[in-house]
Amino acid sequence: MEGRKVTGWAARDFPSQVNDKQSFKHIYTKTGPEDVVFKVLYCGVDHSDLHQIRNEAQYTTYPLVPGHEVVGKVIEVGSDVKKFVVRDIVGVVCMVGSCGECMRCKTNKEQYCKNMVFTYNTIYKDGSFTQGGFSSAMIVHQNYVVNIPEKTSPRAGCTVTMCRSDGLQSVKTVHRDAGPSVEERAILYLEAQDRAIKVGILGLGGVGHLGVLIAKAMGHHVTVISSSDRKREEALTDIGADCFLVSSNSAEMDKYKSSLDYI
Ligand SMILES: [Zn+2]
Ligand SMILES: [Zn+2]
Repeated sequence: MEGRKVTGWAARDFPSQVNDKQSFKHIYTKTGPEDVVFKVLYCGVDHSDLHQIRNEAQYTTYPLVPGHEVVGKVIEVGSDVKKFVVRDIVGVVCMVGSCGECMRCKTNKEQYCKNMVFTYNTIYKDGSFTQGGFSSAMIVHQNYVVNIPEKTSPRAGCTVTMCRSDGLQSVKTVHRDAGPSVEERAILYLEAQDRAIKVGILGLGGVGHLGVLIAKAMGHHVTVISSSDRKREEALTDIGADCFLVSSNSAEMDKYKSSLDYI
């Protein structure tokens, strides 16, 4: 297919709003042999979208279609795509490309590639400008598309891609050249334990949620430490943490001092 016109919601400049009155048409170059075309079903919003919309990192190019926590339904695949078929539910996080040739790319660590291409606000290999998931559809190389399992609702899939992309964002901004991200190191550490240990999860945002679920799935004892009591029920009942501490309650914090193996 020769190019595909999609409609997105774009920030035009700052201050500007991103909504359905800010429609912006852009054309993808033709679908390559390894490209996956999908209709966007859901797209998360997180603070890095706001940073980019407001040009807070000083490198936003307008018009900008944000959105890097994208879930959609496959409507077309290139001739060499083997991992996906039409009607699969798929997700895309904050990167859509990398050089494919460096040591990092060749060892499945594309997120550390010096030529990583972000989902939006970046020049793609073909010279086009990447635009994000607040769009009717996206075209992404199969290596940067993930499968959303059937058991996961597409809407919940956004949350999972968000946690992953937040991990990648921290790689980009904090320690892109310093090996695995904080989240990856934590998962590797928990995996390496030969017995159940007492794990503390600090804060119950998107990444914290996933941390609780992963640590519990590995059989560890999980304590959530939060700044207020607001998320107690969510932590203990909804996602199955074993213990909940409020960090501003110094008596409680004292009582549990040195009780955790890993935070
Ligand atoms: Zn590379
Ligand atoms: Zn995010």
